[in-house]
Amino acid sequence: MEAWLRCPICLEIADQAMETSCCHQVHCRACVARVNRCAQCRHEPVRAEASALARRMIDSLPFKCPHCDRRGPRGEIREHEVACERRPIKCPAPDCQYQGLAPEFLLHLKDKHREALLRNADKCFA
Ligand SMILES: [Zn+2]
Ligand SMILES: [Zn+2]
Ligand SMILES: [Zn+2]
Ligand SMILES: [Zn+2]
Repeated sequence: MEAWLRCPICLEIADQAMETSCCHQVHCRACVARVNRCAQCRHEPVRAEASALARRMIDSLPFKCPHCDRRGPRGEIREHEVACERRPIKCPAPDCQYQGLAPEFLLHLKDKHREALLRNADKCFA
């Protein structure tokens, strides 16, 4: 794996890659935004600019959807992830921490929120 595409703060592949002006190390945009000092060379204050090259390289890295077996370039999988049918759904009910795949989620709704479902059934088609 290209080491320079890895963020030295969270140690993941940099998200929305930014490159520092001090040591040209790639960081996530969110990570570099919350530090004053460069995590790589300790230069202070740290300055970073969007790195089009790093972003292009990161988008083309081989990647696997964390929810299913689909593989492809990272940019493509990132888009797929949002619509992935294996992605767990979080129960929207207040005070409910349940999270599961669509078929189990439906069972959970039927099981735990039967009353609310019946009461609100008409809202599904509003
Ligand atoms: Zn990071
Ligand atoms: Zn630096
Ligand atoms: Zn998927
Ligand atoms: Zn629930």
